[in-house]
Amino acid sequence: MISVEEARAMVLSGVSTLPTERVSLLEALGRVLAEDALSDIDVAPFDNTAMDGYAVRSEDTGGASEDTPVVLRVLDHIAAGSVPTHVLQPGTASRIMTGAPVPEGADAIVKIEDTEGLEAGGGAGGTVAIKRPATRGDHVRFRGEEVREGQVILSAGEVISPAAVGLLASTGNVVVSVHRRPRVAILPTGDELVDTDERPGPGKIRDSNSLSLAALVLAAGGIPVVHGIVRDDEATVRSAFLAAAADADVVVSSGGVSVGDFDFAPRVLAEIGSVTFHKVNMRPGGAQTYGVINGVPYFGLPGNPTSAYMGFEMFARPMLRLMQGISAIDRPVVRAVLAEGISKKPGRRQYLRARLEPITGRDDCVVFSVVLTGSQSSALMTAMHKANCLLVLPGDGREYPEGTIMDCLRIDVDESVGVLG
Ligand code: AMP
Ligand code: MG
Repeated sequence: MISVEEARAMVLSGVSTLPTERVSLLEALGRVLAEDALSDIDVAPFDNTAMDGYAVRSEDTGGASEDTPVVLRVLDHIAAGSVPTHVLQPGTASRIMTGAPVPEGADAIVKIEDTEGLEAGGGAGGTVAIKRPATRGDHVRFRGEEVREGQVILSAGEVISPAAVGLLASTGNVVVSVHRRPRVAILPTGDELVDTDERPGPGKIRDSNSLSLAALVLAAGGIPVVHGIVRDDEATVRSAFLAAAADADVVVSSGGVSVGDFDFAPRVLAEIGSVTFHKVNMRPGGAQTYGVINGVPYFGLPGNPTSAYMGFEMFARPMLRLMQGISAIDRPVVRAVLAEGISKKPGRRQYLRARLEPITGRDDCVVFSVVLTGSQSSALMTAMHKANCLLVLPGDGREYPEGTIMDCLRIDVDESVGVLG
């Protein structure tokens, strides 16, 4: 049986990024920029003030203090969005509001708290007392500080964060080029399944995997295309798989991959495509089938909800990220202290659904404890819902007493966070 690492390497080798498309800025959030974005202007477009106050010539304010203020004549009142109409001469200042252009002749701003309006309340045509000396450049935000016209504001390969959306917006990039989102066909298989909007009759259950897998596809940046329930009949499975592969970048099915009498997926895959592997050394979800149908990657996930989830998390999610040009595909690993001892029979490597909690009472560093979130049956989803990590338990059958330091994969933070702990 192959290891998770070997299986991942097989699944991810040769994955290429999808073609690009041009989308509006908000649609680009979280996606990868496919070509460098340039700025069409200087940002800031002009020198402007970071404070409400007075634009001054710094040399005029030398020696100013609370007791010996310098009195300047006020030429102008410059609001944000307006254009100064006066050039500062020796002995003059202009009242100016945050974001307004610094007038010609001024080289510093004195904030309003360090001044006192005299004649005309310190407005245009009046006078102002300056109570603190200014240094050239004080509170001035300079033209082009963020970026110069024609320069790169964001490079190809960068993930578009909310801050990047702001940068792109300020530089005229309202439409950007990103890698296309992968279309993922989702095929639930099983004679016991009914649609989620139905109340299951005798012997039936709701098809919940289609929805949880669709949610996982969305969370990984893909577009879920949920197909109807596929019945456990070889010919039906075959035609459903072929139809799905004809219209998707990735096909994901759930159920029918084991050794049951009606588990047709591996057999059908071997017939219409190729099987790369059909078992992985992991629990839950060891009955992972992976292969290719007409050039389209196919994941045969087990039917048990947590097994299907795990197969998606470990193999499909990193593939979908690579297809979108996102290179960070490894969940951060945290080392944490076992809050309760664990002993399991020897067997496959286990990924236990668990919760990391910072240990309180330490302020020198963050130390996590880890505790299981409930029954680890692969048929149950509550423990997965409550989990923020997957506790890795080697299948060596050893007893892991309370206090042992264990590796945990954080599933609550993005892969781009990198290795933690
Ligand atoms: P299978 O992998 O087909 O043997 O199914 C394993 C278990 O998962 C069985 O108990 C199925 O009833 C259950 N199962 C299969 N498909 C789904 C689904 N789409 N939603 C929820 N449970 C499912
Ligand atoms: Mg089945």
